[in-house]
Parts: sequence; structure tokens; C-alpha cells
Amino acid sequence: MIPSYPYDAPASAALLDRARAVTPGGVNSPVRAFRAVGGTPRFVLRAAGPYLHDADGREYVDLLCSWGPMILGHAHPDVLDAVRRASADGFSFGTPSENEVLLAEEIVARVEPVEQVRLVSSGTEATMSAIRLARGFTGRSKIVKFAGCYHGHVDSLLASAGSGVATFALPDSPGVTGASAADTIVLPYNNIAALEALFASRGDEIACVITEAAAGNMGVVPPVAGFTEALLRVSRAHGALLVSDEVMTGFRCSRAGWYGLEGPYDAGAPDLFTFGKVMGGGFPAAAFGGRADVMAHLAPEGPVYQAGTLSGNPVATAAGLATLRGCTDEVYARIAAVAGRISAEAHSSLDAAGVPHRIQSAGSMFSVFFAAEQVLDYDGAKAQDLGAYTAFFHSMLSQGVHLPPSAFESWFVSASHDDDAVDRVVQALPAAARAAAAASS
Ligand SMILES: *Cc1c(COP(=O)(O)O)cnc(C)c1O
Repeated sequence: MIPSYPYDAPASAALLDRARAVTPGGVNSPVRAFRAVGGTPRFVLRAAGPYLHDADGREYVDLLCSWGPMILGHAHPDVLDAVRRASADGFSFGTPSENEVLLAEEIVARVEPVEQVRLVSSGTEATMSAIRLARGFTGRSKIVKFAGCYHGHVDSLLASAGSGVATFALPDSPGVTGASAADTIVLPYNNIAALEALFASRGDEIACVITEAAAGNMGVVPPVAGFTEALLRVSRAHGALLVSDEVMTGFRCSRAGWYGLEGPYDAGAPDLFTFGKVMGGGFPAAAFGGRADVMAHLAPEGPVYQAGTLSGNPVATAAGLATLRGCTDEVYARIAAVAGRISAEAHSSLDAAGVPHRIQSAGSMFSVFFAAEQVLDYDGAKAQDLGAYTAFFHSMLSQGVHLPPSAFESWFVSASHDDDAVDRVVQALPAAARAAAAASS
């Protein structure tokens, strides 16, 4: 049965009013406010398996999965058990502990080029620290990022200025100084010629290139064939490091993340990787790691400072470890099947309604672009029909399916999405596709 909910959500709206009085915009991370799609964000009281339960007593099939971490589904019994046992033994020690070793060993065993990791508490901290390390290791200051790639809210990485030709970045946010953006060079994603041209003129100033292993923060835009190889070849030739940001793709696209799908590469391996989301199992745990000789530059072994009161927290690492151990071949097969069925059904519903669209995927991450052309970069992503997505999103929400509240985000599924949950999504798609058709500009 597809539920059909009234548009308003009075209990969530009341909570949002209270939240707004004490928190800017009523949320602790901007996208949660539904500004891109309008309407009232749903305040969730409880989540179990593939479902969210909101303050108005409604149930939603969750295609957000906390923006990636909940790969096993909400409150998975094994993870819950690990968290209960770890928390009974104390919440934080400020000393080394065994869980940190186990989690690090699990990561190193899964991602072949990663020899050592340092645990942190968020993806933002991971990319910030990886860049500091790359600068400390190379003695250079410039970094290269790609337009449309998100690496957390690190000052120097919030710059994503104009694409096209290499531009010195202008800060995207007030409060980011020109000085912290000035060392960031932004290039168009998937454009090997722009990369080669930049390195030919200033390759010896560049500490590192940071890229999303497969972009998921402008909608899903995987690297074109040869792009990652080119990043490796060009950065290596000029003595720069490659930082592969696998915060979203890590342990989700495969056992070994995007690297496990696309690697190994002829031109070598990324020097540093960043992880987060899945590896914390819904708790604040993230990591950066890679070549041992580069990691040896980190304090206390080396001079590059990096630290954290809650880094390697025993409860968070227990949740992460239980989640990674639960990510078996069967789990990857299930999420691939769920993603495959939902994207195929979305495609046929949108086709039937005559809505131009492209569904793009990277492993089990996928997103629907309301665009006629394949999306290869941020300019392409921005060319989509946002009004069509808004109509589609609200139709799905009113039928009990919670999509990401922005067209520039990946959809996420979990191994707990059973046939009932997937059927509900599938049944909601035709009406949502017709709503998108009606709104199409
Ligand atoms: C989510 C994300 C981050 C930031 O992680 P937080 O834990 O939100 O700080 C960094 N890089 C990528 C690719 C991400 O998807």
C-alpha cells in the first residue's frame, strides 16, 4: 500500500519553529532545511531498517540513509549490540584503545594502497588534515580541486569558483578569506586537458590534487574513463600528491570503495585517501590514510600537527567496526540489486511521462538528473531542471518516500531495503514522474 500523506506536517512545523528560535534556520546542517525544495523538513523521531518515522506519526522509505552512512539500515542489531557493549565500558578514554587498532586494521585490509590511517571525527577533519599533510610533505602550498566536488567545509576547499579554464578560486562563503582561497585552484571535473595545461605552467607549486573518487555531491558524476589515470600520471610527473576523497564512496561502492571498482591503476595509486560516512556506522568517525612514508610526517612521528580529543572514540569505532564487518559480499549484492531496480523503475516511469532525464551511478550510488544530456561536470549538473526535481521530490514525500531534498545529491540505499520497501518506492514513481512532467520547464 502506498500511503498518501497530506502536504502539511504540523508536528514537524512546530518543532521547526522552536528550532529556528535557537538555531540558525532551525537546522544543524543547511541542506536539512529543505530550502532547495521548499516545504517543511520532517523531524525524525525514530528510524528502523529502511524506514524513518517522523513527529507526525508518518513512515517513510528512507533513500537518504543519513547521506550515506546507514548502509546496513537503521539500528542494525549487530551494530546496536556493539554500541551497547562499548558504551557500557565507558564513553571516551583519552588514551589509546583496542577498537582503534581493529578499525584501522579493517580499513588497511580492505583498501590495498592504504598502509596507515589516522582516525578523526568527521569527513571535514579528514580532508583538512590530508591537505595539511600533503603540504607538509611536499613543502608546497597550492592545491587543486574540481568544481562541484565537495570535501566538507574546510576554508580552502569551499572555493569552487568558475569552471572552464583554470581560475584562481574566489571564496564561496563570506568568512573564507581571500588568503585561504588563494592557494586553491579550481578546475572543471572530468577535463584532462585543463589539468594538463595547469600542471604544464605551474606544476612545481602544487602540493596535491584532491578529487572525489567518484563525484556524488553534484549528483552522481563518475570519472570518465582515463580521468583517474590522468590525475595519477600528471600529479606524479610533477611531484604532487593525489588525495582521493572516498568519504562518500568508501566502503559503499564496493568493499574497497571506488578504488575497489576502478583500481588498481597503471599509473600507481592515490597517495592519500579520506574516509567517513559508512566507516562510522552513523557515529562520528572518519579517517585519512595512505602511503606509510607520507603518513610518517604526522605528529608524533613527524612534524605535521594533527590531533583530536574524541578521535578514535571507543563507541564510534565500535559502531564503525561492526558496520564494516557487516558489509559482506551479500550486502554489496543486495544494495546493488536495490539500486538497480529503483533506478530502472525511475527510468521507465520518467520515460512514460515524457520527462527528459539521465540516471547516473557509481556503484550503488545513483541520482536522477532532470536533464537531456549526460552530466560530466558541474556546469552540466547546474543545467538540470530544478523545478521538475522539486515536484518529483514532493510527490515522493507525500507518498511516503524520503529522497534527498536537493537535486545535487546522491540517493542512498541500504541492505535493509527489503522487497516491501522497494515496492513502495516503485509504486510511488509513476505519480512522481507525472508531477515532474507537469512542472517541467
Ligand atoms: C560528506 C563528505 C565530506 C564531509 O564529511 P563530513 O563528515 O560531513 O564533514 C567530505 N567529502 C565528501 C566526498 C563527502 O561526501
